[in-house]
Amino acid sequence: MALPGLLKPSFDQLSIALDLLQKCIEEDRRILIVGDFDADGATASVVAIKALRLMGAKYVDFLVPNRFKHGYGLSPEIVNEARRVLDRVNELCDLGLNFSEGLLGGASIDKYGVPYADETRALSAQADAILLGAVGGPKWDQLERSIRPERGLLAIRSELDLFSNLRPAITYPQLADASSLKPELVAGLDILIVRELTGGIYFGEPRGIRTLENGEREGYNTYKYSESEIERIGRNAFEMAMKRDKRLCSVDKANVLEATVLWREVMDRISSEYPEVELSHMYVDNAAMQLVRAPKQFDVMVTGNMFGDILSDAAAMLTGSIGMLPSASLDKNGRGMYEPCHGSAPDIAGQGIANPLATILSVAMMLRYSLDMAAAADKIEAAVSVVLDRGLRTGDIMGEGCRQVSTREMGDAVVDALR
Ligand code: NAD
Repeated sequence: MALPGLLKPSFDQLSIALDLLQKCIEEDRRILIVGDFDADGATASVVAIKALRLMGAKYVDFLVPNRFKHGYGLSPEIVNEARRVLDRVNELCDLGLNFSEGLLGGASIDKYGVPYADETRALSAQADAILLGAVGGPKWDQLERSIRPERGLLAIRSELDLFSNLRPAITYPQLADASSLKPELVAGLDILIVRELTGGIYFGEPRGIRTLENGEREGYNTYKYSESEIERIGRNAFEMAMKRDKRLCSVDKANVLEATVLWREVMDRISSEYPEVELSHMYVDNAAMQLVRAPKQFDVMVTGNMFGDILSDAAAMLTGSIGMLPSASLDKNGRGMYEPCHGSAPDIAGQGIANPLATILSVAMMLRYSLDMAAAADKIEAAVSVVLDRGLRTGDIMGEGCRQVSTREMGDAVVDALR
């Protein structure tokens, strides 16, 4: 059903329009606002969306002309480059990989009305590994919380039981100057943050915003971890430490939060099974300070969902840019989802200037951890290093004497450097 916009509607016309819209809302229909908006029109349509939501509409969207498309998310740009690298390495090493593509987050809301549709769910269930861009953006910020893009991300992580999030923070020697810390503090830095991903305060129930008896509103969340949840992430972190320098630092807030008193107890218990690993404990506030004071003291860090979220972003800046940081989220069998640590960067999306290396390095992690193709992963990492040696930089890691390149040029250079 189409409802044309009216410049100066009469009372009757407005009343008919509102009745029609109310009917659409009652029938859970999608309401699409279309128009060649100027900037005021775009603002007006956001107001209209808000009004329709207040009337109870679940699915409202508006089509925006290309000239307003900045700020909708950089996922397609960076995933495209990562995919070209993957295609090339697939061919070069005869990996025999097959690909399918699904939508998650905002693009899925636009097409299906929900952030994680059954179509994508079916594809993910069959895949050996998943490569994800990033979700979210201002276009979807007005939506009701339960159907926001980020909910799609939480749902796929939770449904596939991707409880272990690996976030390496490696400072390439070529980029030591791009870090906000002195080069000598970060050159050669190589730490791994193991973050619990499907529990803790991001998932704990009860949660919500309620109105108290005195009329004041109160927001509340629940921070909880069961022993088995702590045990499986703990074991995973000890295993990672065994493959590296055998030093594990568990980060908690056991001086204040009971959930993390249990966390510390369980970590101590597991440590007896890994006598070669040196386990230490650190409160999260101190860990944040130590990460910027002397980051090279760490080898592997293990922590809960929220602390890991924050600490890994701080670690990102040690490496020069969040645009350099890949990540992996694994289930208990090593099947996983791979994505850059950064978000959809709406401030630079659509301009062709984003750094695709975090996503390209996520592809390398995918080959190593889920597909058992370490040689192919090495090739990608070596190609990235060659490109940095040649002085090619996107804006976020630009340094003196280097050449600034676009997202596409950076992708081209990595593809060319694959040997
Ligand atoms: P962000 O990571 O998108 O951006 C933070 C800053 O880093 C911005 O200045 C951005 O320009 C820059 N940046 C990010 N990626 C870059 C890249 N590849 N190259 C160069 N610079 C880059 O974080 P934000 O601004 O807090 O969030 C924006 C949106 O992304 C929000 O909707 C948020 O919910 C979503 N988000 C999604 C994920 C995910 O999908 N895993 C993670 C974080 C944020």
